[in-house]
Amino acid sequence: MSRRLLLINPAHMLNGRVQRGPAQFPIPPLNLGYVAALTPASWEVRIIDENLRLEEGLSWRPDLVGLTALTPNAPRAYALAQQYRAAGIPVVLGGIHASALPDEAARYVDAVVVGEAEGAWPRLLADFEAGRLQARYDGGFDALESLAPPRRDLYPGGYFTEVAFTSKGCLGHCDFCSIWRFYAQCYRTRPVDDVVDELATLPAHKMVFLADDNLTLQPGRVIEICQQLVKRGLRRRLAIQGAITLADNEELLIWLKRAGCVYVFVGLESLNGEALTQIGKPNLLGANAEGYRRRLANLHRHGLGVYGSFIVGLDQDTPETFAQLERFILEAEIDCALINILAPLPGTLLWERLIAEGRLLLRHFPDDYACCTQDRVYFQPAHLTPQQLEEGARQLIVRLNRPGLLARRARRTWQHTHSALATLIALEWNRRSRVAARRIPDRCENVGT
Ligand code: SF4
Repeated sequence: MSRRLLLINPAHMLNGRVQRGPAQFPIPPLNLGYVAALTPASWEVRIIDENLRLEEGLSWRPDLVGLTALTPNAPRAYALAQQYRAAGIPVVLGGIHASALPDEAARYVDAVVVGEAEGAWPRLLADFEAGRLQARYDGGFDALESLAPPRRDLYPGGYFTEVAFTSKGCLGHCDFCSIWRFYAQCYRTRPVDDVVDELATLPAHKMVFLADDNLTLQPGRVIEICQQLVKRGLRRRLAIQGAITLADNEELLIWLKRAGCVYVFVGLESLNGEALTQIGKPNLLGANAEGYRRRLANLHRHGLGVYGSFIVGLDQDTPETFAQLERFILEAEIDCALINILAPLPGTLLWERLIAEGRLLLRHFPDDYACCTQDRVYFQPAHLTPQQLEEGARQLIVRLNRPGLLARRARRTWQHTHSALATLIALEWNRRSRVAARRIPDRCENVGT
């Protein structure tokens, strides 16, 4: 009889309720698809994504459970682990949170995978089958050549986008980001042909999110991927994320558009040069944010939708920051704006700094990890009260997306992109952002205690 493996992407839960991200567009858990692909055919594998439905009960009894978690869903991962272990089923946990805090994770599971799970998985399964599962595995960072395609057939239906990647890691050093530390500051790429072959298997009508941490570190490679897609008649509705400097590369923008790119996600973070320097991002603002404005206009000139992400609550932010951001986002006609409250997370320099400065307002871990999200304030801001920051962010989102503006902004997206998909996404994203911002989030009982 074959063995059974259950892979779970836990929900983010707080006070017993599932919490949804601002726009509620879940994407498939790509890491679990790759782990499933590395599991021998002698195993029966299932994937549950609790962003779509909660795992309840043990109707399908696995021999082994594999969990992945970021910080906000780590408490749910630990709760699920306890549930399965109580039923005598061993549990393995990987992901960014467990990699940042492996000793903590080890208290809740049978084995912790630090780093990329793919590198450790065959060894871990062999150990499990031999009855000698180890407490910790180091996945390392293998070359990304000839990867077995992720088991997309195991994903539950219901995702708006497909997801794939062409590279991993980033050479940046942003203080709020754990990616560069998780990947030990190494940047690895997949061969162009492998990427194009995989994209060829994805449906042309669906959006494909390229989940590279920073896709544009090697623009020549991205151009090559786009050229191959065009040459093989494989235009795909791509959404990519990269640094705003990609807007300086005319050839890259031309090929992205030709290959079918619909949206470019850029982390703009702040309009304050000092803040950008402090968080470790290059200060590309120029006079009066002219550097940002010019680059954003160039993305639009090439027919690309812009998904711009900002952080509020940085040490330089004041009560005036919200109005400045509102003006800039509307003037630059950013199609979808993501307003994130600064969220210090384990594994980041920011987390360490705020703890050292006594500014973290949460203490009851692991439960309080569920409060570590970008729509709550759980640290002491420098020039705002926590209430001013939370309310300022919420009101900014509501104002940017008020009913009268939604249609006007969507019309501009259509004029920039001539893409019905880009326009619909802008409309729906912005509408959902307003609905989410108007909802009072579940409170974190322990903040400040
Ligand atoms: S925030 Fe983006 S640019 Fe900065 S280190 Fe993380 S992945 Fe790199």
